[in-house]
Amino acid sequence: MTDVSEPLLDVDDLEKYFPVKSGIIKRTSDYVKAVDGVSFDIERGETLALIGESGSGKSTVARTIIGLTGATGGTVRFDGEDITNAADEQLARLRSRVQMVFQDPTSSLNPRRTIGKSLAVPLKARGVATSDLRERVVDLLERVELNDEYWNKYPHELSGGQKQRVNIARALAVEPELLLLDEPTSALDVSVQAKIIALLEDLQAEFGLTYLFITHDLSLVRNFADETAVMYLGEIQERGPTQEVFQRPRHPYSRALLSAIPVTTDEEEAYKPRHEPLRGEIPSPRDVPTGCRFHTRCPYATDACSADEPAFVAVDAGPSVRCHIYDEAYADAFDDVPEVAVAAVADEGVASNQEP
Ligand code: SF4
Repeated sequence: MTDVSEPLLDVDDLEKYFPVKSGIIKRTSDYVKAVDGVSFDIERGETLALIGESGSGKSTVARTIIGLTGATGGTVRFDGEDITNAADEQLARLRSRVQMVFQDPTSSLNPRRTIGKSLAVPLKARGVATSDLRERVVDLLERVELNDEYWNKYPHELSGGQKQRVNIARALAVEPELLLLDEPTSALDVSVQAKIIALLEDLQAEFGLTYLFITHDLSLVRNFADETAVMYLGEIQERGPTQEVFQRPRHPYSRALLSAIPVTTDEEEAYKPRHEPLRGEIPSPRDVPTGCRFHTRCPYATDACSADEPAFVAVDAGPSVRCHIYDEAYADAFDDVPEVAVAAVADEGVASNQEP
């Protein structure tokens, strides 16, 4: 029986390492650590945003959860059931409760199938009678604010936003509980992005859907996600309630990301962190830096940062952060850090986010 007090999705210490083959006989010589010990959970009806630069491993997390690629380690539990590396039969059951919406709305649709046929396929697979298909497809189209005129259209006749609505409708056809949304708006214009987000919010309110929302576009997350996790090089660096993470980002990587997004209101301006541009490029996941993996780009890095890996700890009962700045045991190592970092340690709220 479903225990509604349990999170719908519980990911614990998930790892996905891709072997790197080399030499004439192609021996495994190394691993690309795309996902390296990721943990989070999502309550029913809530949204967790997984944010970070391209190459941080966000999409691999989603693909591993839904079984498109196998996990190297860790566990994934859905509604209390261990679905890590699920067998075919378990995967088939899972796909009726968990669906994924991909970044590219065009390649997700068969160009030779009309929209009506594309939406009828998952309905037929669920046993919907042929005589009821048209009505059910039109119902799905209306849920995503399209109409029955789309029944006979082909994907090339639709705009990017319309195609993504069809992809969302197709995911809804199996009446899922969890949607894994992998950059669902990144191929769309800004005005269309806002409409898709509004649609997702409406559908969540109506059907109690649970979302894992993956994006590199932080401006989409602020008013959409209940919780936000900031991912860097295969690892979560900060995780907490979205308003906390956006108003008082603790981790230097979160601060750098959030300082770069445009603000649209006075309140957002008040909380915008001082500008802390990221240095250099994200390192290769094949060559993860020692200690804190962000140390090669962090303006506050000390010798301790390249030597010791930070633990993931809660700060003031708020977000959890992976950074030595918040660990008293490392206080001496940061005697010389700039004033703003000390202010962040002291957690002085809005003032800590501003230029000293
Ligand atoms: Fe920066 Fe050191 Fe904190 Fe890593 S542990 S984020 S390098 S200050």
